[in-house]
Amino acid sequence: MPLPAIQKPGPLNIGLMGGTFDPIHMGHLVTAEEARQQFLLDYVIFIPAGLPPHKSKEQVTPAEHRYIMTTLAVMSNPFFVVSRVEVDKKEPSYTIDTIRYFTSRFATGTNLFFITGADAILEISTWKDYTELLKLCTFIAVTRPGYPLDRLDEITGKLLPELRARIHLLEIPALAISSTFIRQRVALGRTIKYLTPEPVEQYIKKHGLYKKEFVNCGNRL
Ligand code: ATP
Ligand code: MG
Repeated sequence: MPLPAIQKPGPLNIGLMGGTFDPIHMGHLVTAEEARQQFLLDYVIFIPAGLPPHKSKEQVTPAEHRYIMTTLAVMSNPFFVVSRVEVDKKEPSYTIDTIRYFTSRFATGTNLFFITGADAILEISTWKDYTELLKLCTFIAVTRPGYPLDRLDEITGKLLPELRARIHLLEIPALAISSTFIRQRVALGRTIKYLTPEPVEQYIKKHGLYKKEFVNCGNRL
């Protein structure tokens, strides 16, 4: 993965954004861009999951398609890059494995920021080796429309203060888009223009992705 050549005094700030990206959409991109600006990140690395631990093979589009779509989506942003670290692994990756990998890859002192939906933070105590995770990187928990956060204080309140201090909330412009929503729309033959970048939309069309998604979404679309 070629990284942008950044010349600056002091340590780099690097954002890491993991996801299934099935497919990547404007919600992901707006989130990464907002995090980049607010947290003075030098760049953001998108990390498409290989086979996510919580999803089975049948439920997820092959990793190579998701990797290519993510690459197409970030092409126009010089501060965004895509990593194959999880895609190239046969077994599912836990976040801690990926963060350990990046910790070893970058110079000592590099600040790593893991960008994730705030809803995921509600489950933090179930993540593998989460205390080490919070020591290795700062979490940027993005508030996502439709996910109530009243339990967040309660959850993070149970963490040691020095770990709690590693979680920052970031409010982003409301974009109630999800990959599920896009997949369902494609299955219904409805437009996904402006929900995902145009090259991704074209790729989905060309490869006939998401056509057979089982849909039961009433009149939500
Ligand atoms: P799915 O509907 O298949 O679950 P998703 O839209 O949630 O897909 P993921 O690839 O699972 O996408 O998400 C990757 C990360 O991006 C997660 O941390 C998730 O919380 C966050 N995210 C997804 N959609 C949005 C959005 N619209 N705004 C902000 N963050 C988002
Ligand atoms: Mg999701």
